[in-house]
Amino acid sequence: MLTVNAIAATSATDPLVRTTIERRDLGPRDVLIEIRYAGICHSDIHTVRGEWGEIAYPQVVGHEIVGRVAEVGGEVSKHAVGDRVGVGCMVNSCRECENCRAGQEQYCLEGNTGTYTAVDRDGTITQGGYSTHIVVDQDFVLRVPESIPYEKAAPLLCAGITTYSPLAHWNAGPGKKVAVVGMGGLGHMAVKFAAAMGAEVTVLSQTLGKKDDGLAFGGGDYHATSDPATFEALKNTFDLIINTVSAPIDMAAHLGLLRLGGTLVSVGAPPEPLPVQVFSLFDNRRSFAGSSIGGIAETQEMLDFCAEHGIASEVEVIDADAVNEAYERVLRSDVRYRFVIDIDSLR
Ligand code: NAP
Ligand code: ZN
Ligand code: ZN
Repeated sequence: MLTVNAIAATSATDPLVRTTIERRDLGPRDVLIEIRYAGICHSDIHTVRGEWGEIAYPQVVGHEIVGRVAEVGGEVSKHAVGDRVGVGCMVNSCRECENCRAGQEQYCLEGNTGTYTAVDRDGTITQGGYSTHIVVDQDFVLRVPESIPYEKAAPLLCAGITTYSPLAHWNAGPGKKVAVVGMGGLGHMAVKFAAAMGAEVTVLSQTLGKKDDGLAFGGGDYHATSDPATFEALKNTFDLIINTVSAPIDMAAHLGLLRLGGTLVSVGAPPEPLPVQVFSLFDNRRSFAGSSIGGIAETQEMLDFCAEHGIASEVEVIDADAVNEAYERVLRSDVRYRFVIDIDSLR
C-alpha cells in the first residue's frame, strides 16, 4: 500500500481538509499515476454535500485527473512509465454485459465503478483525484495528447466527454441549430465542441455577463434566460438543446425552443426532478433525454478531437487550500470556466 496526501470531505457540511489515504499495491494490470492536476466538477460538490444521497466519510472526490505514469504492473501493455495520461469518472466496469461490449462502459448493466464513492473490486470505497497519486486498471486510463497542457486537459475527462458524447450522438454538425443552457464547466466545453463540429450554436445563460466569452468560444448567438423575451424570440428553433444546469430549469419554456423532432438532453444533474408536461413533447414531436459521460473509446476519441481542433478547457488553477473557496464560487456560477487544483500544492 502507498500512503498519499489528499484533500477529503469529512461530512456534508464541513470544509474539505488535508489528510492521507491508502492506494492499493499495483496489480499486474494496474497503472500508478502521479497526479499533476485535478478539475473541480459540480458533481464533486453535489456528492460531498450529500445532495445525491448519503455517502461514507471521509471521502476524496475528483474525477478530472491528469498526470504522469509513475509505475506499471507486469502485464500492462497500453501505458508506459512517463506517459501523459488521464482518468475520468469511472475506473472499472464488468466488461461482459451488452453495454460494456458495445464500448458503453458508462452504462454498464452491473453499474460502472465510479472514480469515487463506488465499491472497488477489493471492497474498499474508491477515492478520487484530489490526491497526489491514484492506481487504476490500464483499460480505464486515457492517453492525453502532447499538445494539450496538463491543466487544460484535466476538465476534458468529465466536462469534455459529458458534452462531446451527446453532441456526437445527436449529430451536432453543419445545418444543425444547437443551444447550450448554462455556461459553466460543462457548458463552455459544449459551446466549443458544437462549434467545432460545425453546428450553429446559441448560448442560453442566466445573464449576458459572459456573452463575450460565449461568442469567443464559438457561439453565434447569446441570450439571457432571465429575460422572458428570450423564450418568445427563440420558440421552435433548435434541433438540439444541451442542458448543463446544476439546478432545475423551467422545462416547458426550454422544450418550447425545440423545432420539429428536436431533442433536449439534460446532462445537468440536479437532485430535484425535472418535471415534464407531456403536451410540451407532443408539439413538434419533441424528445427529452439524458446522457451520462461517455465510454472509454469515445473519451479517447474526444481527447484526440481536442488535439486536432486545438480545443481545451478554460481554467483557473488553484492550490489545494483554495478548494473550499472555489466550491463557493462554483455555487455562485462565478467560475471561468473550471477550477483545476495544482496537485503539486499537496505534495
Ligand atoms: P457549473 O460549472 O456549476 O455550471 C453550471 C452552470 O449552470 C452555471 O455556470 C450556470 O450557468 C448555470 N446555473 C447554475 N445554477 C443555475 C440556476 N439556478 N438556474 C439557471 N442556471 C443555473 O457545473 P458543471 O460542473 O458544469 O456541472 C453541471 C451539472 O452537470 C451538474 O449538475 C453536474 O453534476 C452535472 N454533470 C453531469 C454529468 C453527466 O454525466 N451527465 C457529468 C458531469 C457533470 P450560467 O452562469 O451561464 O447561467
Ligand atoms: Zn464530473
Ligand atoms: Zn458491464
